[in-house]
Amino acid sequence: MAKQSNLHCSFCGRSRDEVKILIAGQEGHICENCVEHAQEIIVQELQQRQESQASQYRFNIRKPLEVKEFLDQYIIGQDDAKKILSVAVYNHYKRITQKVQNDDVEIEKSNIVMVGETGTGKTLLAKTIAKLLNVPFAIVDATVFTEAGYVGEDVESMLTRLLQVCNYDVAAAEKGIVYVDEIDKIARKGDNPSITRDVSGEGVQQGLLKMLEGTEVLVPPQGGRKHPEQKMIKVNTSNILFICGGAFDGIDKVIARRVNTNAIGFNVNKSEQEFQRKNMLQFINAQDLKSFGLIPELLGRLPVVTHLDPLDADTLRSILTQPKNSLIKQYNRLFELEGIQLVIDEPVYAFMVQKALEFKLGARGLRSICEHILTDAMFELPGSGVKELHIDLDYAENKLKKSKLSMLKVA
Ligand code: ADP
Repeated sequence: MAKQSNLHCSFCGRSRDEVKILIAGQEGHICENCVEHAQEIIVQELQQRQESQASQYRFNIRKPLEVKEFLDQYIIGQDDAKKILSVAVYNHYKRITQKVQNDDVEIEKSNIVMVGETGTGKTLLAKTIAKLLNVPFAIVDATVFTEAGYVGEDVESMLTRLLQVCNYDVAAAEKGIVYVDEIDKIARKGDNPSITRDVSGEGVQQGLLKMLEGTEVLVPPQGGRKHPEQKMIKVNTSNILFICGGAFDGIDKVIARRVNTNAIGFNVNKSEQEFQRKNMLQFINAQDLKSFGLIPELLGRLPVVTHLDPLDADTLRSILTQPKNSLIKQYNRLFELEGIQLVIDEPVYAFMVQKALEFKLGARGLRSICEHILTDAMFELPGSGVKELHIDLDYAENKLKKSKLSMLKVA
C-alpha cells in the first residue's frame, strides 16, 4: 500500500494523488496532463516539419506599412490603391494564420477589385505583392473563360495555372494569389436578362462565385476541359486571394451620374474641382461596378474596391527611371553586360513621355517606345567594340519616326 502512493509521473513529477490517470511504462509512468502536452508538441512539430519541407514558399506576413514601403520601391504614385491593398492583403493573411478560436467571429476574405486605365500598374501591384509575400502568383485573363459546357476555358483553369507556377505544391497554391485581368469584360451585357444566353458574361461571373468565396475545386492538372480519365487535383480556394482588375471603360460617366458633381466641388477651388472631375475613378464604389454589369453576388465576394489614377507626364517621367526595376535601369544593365555605357540626354525622357501620352498606352507605351529607339543599337552594337551609346533627341526622334509605332498615333 505504501509503495502504491509513491508512484509519480516520471515527466512532471506529480504524485498519484495529484493526477487522474497514471499510465505505467516499463520503467516509469506518465500522467494524463503530460500525455496531452506531448500530443500538442507532436502536432506542432509535425506541422513545422511539413511547412519547412514544403517550401521555397515560406510566406512572409508583412505589416501594412511594410507592404506599402515595398510597393513604393517598384510602383510610382497610386497611393490610394497601395494603401488599400496593403491593408487588404495584411488582413487576408492574418485571417489565414489566426489560431482557431471558439467564438463566432469569422474574418471574411478580402478579395479585391482594382479599376484603372490600361497600363497604370494594376498587374504590377498584384505581382509585387506576391513577390513580397513569397506566395505563388498566377495571372489569368477573364476573357478566355466561358460558362461550363461552352467552347472556351472553365474558370477552374485559373487554378491549373496557379498549380503550375508552384510545381503542383498544393499547400502553397492554396495560399497563393490569382490576378484576374479584364474582369470588366465579363460584365453583363445590358441590364435585361437576355434572350440568348450570356455564356461569356454573366455565366462566367456565376462560375466565379464559389471559387472566390472558398470551396474545394477539382482541378485538371494540365488544364483544358475536364474529362473522366483525367486525374484531378483537389484545391481548396478558401485561402487564395483573388485580385481582379479592369479598365471599366466608360465607368467614369456612371460614377459622375451617381455622384452629385456639385457636392464634389463643394469647398474646393476651381483647379481642384477640375482635377476631381477628370479623375472620377477616385469616387468609385461597388454600386458603380454593379451598374457597369457585375452581378451583386460577385461584388459581395469582392469587398475591397480601389482605383488607379491615370498616369500624368510627371508620373510617366518618374516611371522611366525611379523604380528599383525601372525600364531605363533595365536597358542600362543590358548594355552594361555588353561592356557599353548607355547615356541618355534629359530631353529624350521628355520626348518619350510625350509620345507615351499620345499613344494612350499608359506606362506600357514607354516600353514600346524604348524598344523602338534602342532596338537597332541592341542589334548592331554587341561585338562591335563600341564602348558608349549616346542617345540625344535627334537620335530618338529619328528612330521612332522610322518605326511602325509612329503610325499608332491616337486622335
Ligand atoms: P495594367 O495591369 O494596369 O494594364 P501593368 O501593371 O501591366 O498595367 O503595367 C504595365 C507596365 O507599365 C508595368 O510592367 C510597369 O513597367 C509599368 N507601370 C505601370 N504603372 C506603373 C507605375 N505606377 N509605376 C511603375 N511602373 C508602372
